[in-house]
Amino acid sequence: PPAISGDLDKFMTWVDEFRRLKVLANADTPEDAKTARDNGAEGIGLVRTEHMFFGTGERIMAVRRMIMAADTATREAALTDLLPYQREDFEGIFRAMDGCPVTIRLLDPPLHEFLPDGDLDEIVAMLSADTGADEHEVVERIEKLAEINPMLGFRGCRLAITYPEIGRMQVRAILEAAVAVQAEGKVVIPDIMVPLVGTLEELRDQTAMIRETAKAVFEEKGAEVAYRIGTMIEIPRAALMSDQIATEAEFFSFGTNDLTQMTFGYSRDDVSKFLPTYLERGILKHDPFQVLDQAGVGQLIETSVQRGRATRPELKVGICGEHGGDPSSVDFFHRKDLDYVSCSPFRVPIARLAAAQAALNN
Ligand code: PEP
Ligand code: MG
Repeated sequence: PPAISGDLDKFMTWVDEFRRLKVLANADTPEDAKTARDNGAEGIGLVRTEHMFFGTGERIMAVRRMIMAADTATREAALTDLLPYQREDFEGIFRAMDGCPVTIRLLDPPLHEFLPDGDLDEIVAMLSADTGADEHEVVERIEKLAEINPMLGFRGCRLAITYPEIGRMQVRAILEAAVAVQAEGKVVIPDIMVPLVGTLEELRDQTAMIRETAKAVFEEKGAEVAYRIGTMIEIPRAALMSDQIATEAEFFSFGTNDLTQMTFGYSRDDVSKFLPTYLERGILKHDPFQVLDQAGVGQLIETSVQRGRATRPELKVGICGEHGGDPSSVDFFHRKDLDYVSCSPFRVPIARLAAAQAALNN
């Protein structure tokens, strides 16, 4: 969509005088980051790095080699091939967001999303050609990757804890890009975010990996960039344990998509099967994935903010789930004293309006 301009632009600057919530955007590419900025986003609240792993040509081949790797050496070689692509993407986003924070989330795929769609025989032949493994081996490895419940399976930080080389590659790509773009005279503000944390120990494992990798990169480059480490709060346990989690996190970002999924126990991907009946019979008033359930999910958010700030008063708190662009949800986030909402680039103007309206109404 075209950027807002002219009279609307002027009107929006008046709107901005009233709001307290900052409005950031979720963006995965330099193009999205630019659209977000043109629409008034004050930073990027979520870069979903798994989306950057898709693509074509060499990039997707390296991804497949990484996923199908039978050993660490093969995985590390594939990751070495992926590093320049990730670095280039991050450089583009940092340039577009000069002077604004860019929150980059470490890999969080349900692994099945990386497998190509289509006829199984064709997929096996393709993976065999890409990875050099024989077809028998490929079938075995696909079977090992299959999960009964992928959204509760091998995703989020579980991946980089099990395979630390993946996390190290991503942190290296982020910080090498940050050093390079800072050297061009731009102001780079990287926030590195750990996904799907449920326990303090998980976060500790990841913060140690991030700090170690950062130290190595800065020594090699002879330059440093200030960065922050934070976490997604999207598992109810993490919300409840926020006093502990905040000892290791400089910021929290609520993933209201997963937090809704796990609080209700509704699969994000299957809700359409029963939602129409629930809405029709008044069992639910709204689709909770679109409009925040303030009574239940909202209570977890409120508790988490209070407990997190009790440990770390300066904790930065925001949300990056779909609810960041919904006006009634934005009103709730304003009342609960969050620092920012992050939504898709084209919803940024709506979120700015909703944030101003919330400030005037409350
Ligand atoms: C979320 O869970 O709300 C979130 C922002 O992450 P994702 O949608 O990528 O799981
Ligand atoms: Mg999530």
